[in-house]
Amino acid sequence: MEEIKKDNSVKASTAAVSEDTTLKSSFLRHLKYTLAKDEYTATDRDRYKALSLAVRDRLVEKWIKTQQAYYNKDVKRVYYLSLEFLIGRSLGNVLVNLDIYEEARKELLAVGLELEQLRELEWDPGLGNGGLGRLAACFLDSLATLGIPSYGYGIRYEYGIFFQKIRNGHQVETPDNWLRYGNPWEIERPEYLFIVKFYGKVNKYTDKHGRFICSWIDTQDVVALGYDTAIPGYHNNTVNTMRLWGAKSTRDFDLGYFQHGDYERAVSDKVLTETISKVLYPNDNVFEGKELRLKQEYFFVSATLQDIMRRFKKNRQQPIEYRDFPNKTVIQLNDTHPSIAIAELMRIFIDIEGLDWDVAWEITTETFGYTNHTILPEALERWSVPLFERVLPRHLEIIYEINYRFLKGVEERFPGDGGKLSRMSIIEEGDEKKVRMANLSIVGSRSVNGVSALHSEIIKNELFKDFYDYWPKKFNNKTNGITQRRWLRLCNPALSELITQHIGDAWVVDLNELKKLIPFADNIDFQKKWRAIKQDNKRLLAHCLKEKKGVALNVDSIFDCHFKRMHEYKRQLLNAIHAVVLYNRIKAAAKSGNKSALKNIVPRTVIFGGKAAPGYFMAKLIIKLINSIAEVVNSDPEVSDLLKLFFMENYSVSLSEMILPAAELSEQISTAGTEASGTGNMKFALNGALTIGTLDGANIELKENIGADNIFIFGLTADKVNELKQRGYNPREYYERNAELKQAVDMIDNGFFSKNDANLFKPIIESLLNHGDQYLLMADFESYAKCQERVAELYKDQALWTKMSILNVANMGFFSSDRTIKEYADDIWLVKPVDV
Ligand SMILES: *Cc1c(COP(=O)(O)O)cnc(C)c1O
Repeated sequence: MEEIKKDNSVKASTAAVSEDTTLKSSFLRHLKYTLAKDEYTATDRDRYKALSLAVRDRLVEKWIKTQQAYYNKDVKRVYYLSLEFLIGRSLGNVLVNLDIYEEARKELLAVGLELEQLRELEWDPGLGNGGLGRLAACFLDSLATLGIPSYGYGIRYEYGIFFQKIRNGHQVETPDNWLRYGNPWEIERPEYLFIVKFYGKVNKYTDKHGRFICSWIDTQDVVALGYDTAIPGYHNNTVNTMRLWGAKSTRDFDLGYFQHGDYERAVSDKVLTETISKVLYPNDNVFEGKELRLKQEYFFVSATLQDIMRRFKKNRQQPIEYRDFPNKTVIQLNDTHPSIAIAELMRIFIDIEGLDWDVAWEITTETFGYTNHTILPEALERWSVPLFERVLPRHLEIIYEINYRFLKGVEERFPGDGGKLSRMSIIEEGDEKKVRMANLSIVGSRSVNGVSALHSEIIKNELFKDFYDYWPKKFNNKTNGITQRRWLRLCNPALSELITQHIGDAWVVDLNELKKLIPFADNIDFQKKWRAIKQDNKRLLAHCLKEKKGVALNVDSIFDCHFKRMHEYKRQLLNAIHAVVLYNRIKAAAKSGNKSALKNIVPRTVIFGGKAAPGYFMAKLIIKLINSIAEVVNSDPEVSDLLKLFFMENYSVSLSEMILPAAELSEQISTAGTEASGTGNMKFALNGALTIGTLDGANIELKENIGADNIFIFGLTADKVNELKQRGYNPREYYERNAELKQAVDMIDNGFFSKNDANLFKPIIESLLNHGDQYLLMADFESYAKCQERVAELYKDQALWTKMSILNVANMGFFSSDRTIKEYADDIWLVKPVDV
């Protein structure tokens, strides 16, 4: 008691405390006093850490001031709830955003250290699967750069997305123990502990005022501990917070448990509790109805809402006027993963704060916005009701009540339409009842948005048509974007520099400025410089691959890149089959002895990268197939350097930063209607790659922005895909009709690429020819192959190719996540930037 009192009475002002004057002195001080190392004992990792701490110090002043400004002005805050934040390495990003990159480089050089080398020692935090988690990270950068009061909330997984190795052509997963050497960017906040409850039962009674009370009791409790990471804006004074929760056992506090004698049980229970934040589920676009995942979702939602309530209540008079809550709070749900928040906020208002249902519901539905990220049925969250009831009994009751009242309204508007009621119900009937989290999210939110123009149309007209008919104004589109700070300024310094030399550096905060490059597209001298940079970047990538893997790339070939999660709908298999066709053409030309035919072939290096979910058999088999084709092609002397295939291990944000500057052709070839937006497409185009793609997701807007002449579009449109499927699609027809396609498919089928196991790839062929080819590879092949011929033809005209590359970059303004965030802020959140 005495200790606590003392602590409260001493309020030392930290205002006069400032950081070291130079980065160098701060770096040396951290090396010595934080890490206790001298020049003889310090490792490179120590140096990376000391530098990161020195750089972090530079954030602190602005961070504190930003938070004070939000508090003093009592601003409306945006809470971005996401189970994934794939933020990438921090050091380079913070140096760029604070505008001290050059200063740091020079001061390190003065003590004989290379900044670039130290940056490589940072562990890339893989707290996300792919596009969805990376979007959340780009949004945080844009929110801070725009000066919008906002917070990212998520989970501090101890193990991020697995590390992918390729062994014998197969994917092998190893754990990503990213915290092994500590994380200098996070600050633990033991003062923000929240209890999160699970299981138990609901006790109902009438209190002495005659009020009906529901109380959730006999629960098993877990403690959530906050870890903060600073998110600095670019060249401004805003530093926002990303707060990630780690699970801790409450047993630490429950001494009685230990005193009762069962010490071992107490410790093992503690370990069990802390598994909640142990590991990220490695599925991309696939729902897996595991209990632990449900607990993760509720764990971070509950801790986050308690924190939001704490902040809202702070310095507000009792009784709290909760009708003011939506004026100060907006919560954006990144997919349905955090959508239990809707039921949880209702529980807090009704069971804890004592509000009436109708008032609570009005406030709740004013507060939430929901972003849908996929229409793939296998990805939609549908929790088993018995499981849900066991883990979150009170929430299930609340969801039933929400559903009852909602369906009553539907019945009034559409009397007697039983089909509509069962489609719109939050509860799916059947052998096992399910909670449809998408339906809960729509019913409980003020705004529902898709992530590209096409995707938002599909949501309105197909996936959520009944809801759109019921609430047309709720639905809107927010086409995804990427932050140009990381995806051009940081990852491609040479191209950034060239651009800035010609049009200034305003593009870093206003990507539309890139339009000023248009007049240079025809300039021979500028083209030459542009091409030289791409060529340098290609050499750099080739050098890296030579060093690390001992493979040799032909730097005069097209660098044809296909990087994204491995998924059948993304159709890496289509690219692989096409590579076999290219191989066969080279072999045929060589055999015919036709020298000019051989000479006419444009050299190509097809590079793949991407992780498959560990339980996704087909995706893993496709990785093996790519590697098997690569083995045959790359070792065939007749092919020499006309064609090479590579599969690069462990696609991640940092690998992406290596690939993009060197990429010339970007493969964005998903079946039309399946990719919600894609952001990989934007990153490649921003780095000067030309796109070969279908009219899917944001590719459509890419085409509209950069012009049909500057992009390679092929394949069925989403409408034609629907039509063909309706009509009855027969993949064999296409296979029989195209001799090159048939030859390639037959070679895979006959074990040409799997000499030791002729049956290895049968399941792939089965899915294409006998199980309906769900993603229409056969239907799109011919169009794809023809389009690839146009690509190769154009590559012969390097001036024209370069011109198109420049025009691609020049027209990328729309795809900045700054534009996306402004739209969210203006249309959904109704928030304004705050000057710090
Ligand atoms: C951008 C990005 C993605 C998303 O790529 P898509 O092509 O849009 O699927 C996935 N993973 C990483 C590491 C990324 O940087």
